[in-house]
Amino acid sequence: MCGVFGIFGHEEASNLAYLGLHAQQHRGQESGGIVTSDGHTLRSHRGMGLVADVFTEPVIESLTGSMAIGHVRYSTAGASHLKNAQPLQVSFAGGQLAVAHNGNFVDALTTRRSLESEGAIFQSDSDTENIIHFIARSKGPTLEARVIEALGKTSGAYSLLFLSDRQLIAARDPIGFRPLVLGRLKNAYVLASETTALDLIEAEYLREVEPGELLVIDENGLRSSFPFGKKPKGRCIFELVYFARPDSTVFGESVFQVRKKLGRQLAIEQPVEADVVIAVPDSGVAAAIGFAEQAKLPYDVGLIRSHYVGRTFIEPQQSIRHFGVKLKLAPVRSTLEGKRVVAVDDSIVRGTTSRKIVKMLKDAGAREVHLRISSPPTTWPCYYGIDTPSRKELIAASHTIDEIARYVTADSLGYLSERGLTTAAADPGGASFCTACFSGKYLTPLAES
Ligand code: AMP
Repeated sequence: MCGVFGIFGHEEASNLAYLGLHAQQHRGQESGGIVTSDGHTLRSHRGMGLVADVFTEPVIESLTGSMAIGHVRYSTAGASHLKNAQPLQVSFAGGQLAVAHNGNFVDALTTRRSLESEGAIFQSDSDTENIIHFIARSKGPTLEARVIEALGKTSGAYSLLFLSDRQLIAARDPIGFRPLVLGRLKNAYVLASETTALDLIEAEYLREVEPGELLVIDENGLRSSFPFGKKPKGRCIFELVYFARPDSTVFGESVFQVRKKLGRQLAIEQPVEADVVIAVPDSGVAAAIGFAEQAKLPYDVGLIRSHYVGRTFIEPQQSIRHFGVKLKLAPVRSTLEGKRVVAVDDSIVRGTTSRKIVKMLKDAGAREVHLRISSPPTTWPCYYGIDTPSRKELIAASHTIDEIARYVTADSLGYLSERGLTTAAADPGGASFCTACFSGKYLTPLAES
């Protein structure tokens, strides 16, 4: 759960990187960082917290150069600590290098142990650092060759940006788990996890970086190659369900439209007699609108979200997570009182949020609460870059739907089917998606990580 941004060939590179990260703040709120190059020297600034707090105007001004990469982080590997903030930056025999990573290497721990046994010294806990060690050890004649060799030694999910003094290199893993897009702003090339970053800086969206594709951008322009061969695609369906911003185009699909379709399909599969449809904001809004349209029920606002707290789940500490629901959501009594309410959310993970929400709605006067979830039961952890807890903490891994309904105290509970999900995401059967969090069908061998 991270966001990356890169720009090559713009005099305001650091400023635009700052904006590109700001637009992708939803992808990670723990730390942010930018590294720039002026053609000779790399300059960096990283800090804990939100982008707007990490960077000040003097800091942005000090990050000179026309090339930049940036990163917002939420830890899926490694603790929440400044040393793990990205981009990571090093000097090695091949020069200066910075790297920003969205994803997760599944073999990170075994790889690290073997590197350490050969004398490697690590500066962070992050799985991304393995790649830097492989690059430094490579005898490849160019940075591109070193990156290709390094990535060939590991497996998992990665959308990566590398910045040297003169080159910006982008790589997306052959399975294509995490998104990465390419855009253009005048003469500059721009890379981002999501198109919302391009939109904010008024860059034109060119295309996705393809699974398995490596892009090298330097003074000679842009070169594309596919050094890792073709593998089945495994785009993360959870990006469309929950993670990406609804105004983004992810994997070539409008996230908002996909979510609306999920809601429509959910209404077909899990109909219910009710008076009003409400969303659990923000993640359930598009699906709730789709549900209401399909069910021909009024859509209304039953919960107000405070804009001054982060996503509940994104806070790493259990104590804050529990407290957060009340901080985050408040019921609108006038919408709820005496009504049979359909509440639509995108997913249930531990069940703790849903339980509190149902209670909140009933306390505010709802006569019945019917919970509808616009994805199938989350039964398996993600090893490819989405932060999910272990299997034993996933309520649907060990409870039936009836048991979950009882736990969350809903009058009824209905999930979208896996078939319904992939059909709404324009790929019936889901051949091009990773659905491991719902199906347990992992697309790579899972080493200890
Ligand atoms: P829980 O209380 O654990 O069941 O959390 C469910 C809520 O967390 C739902 O409202 C989801 O929108 C949200 N959610 C689901 N997956 C994630 C995730 N990986 N990171 C952050 N929030 C999530």
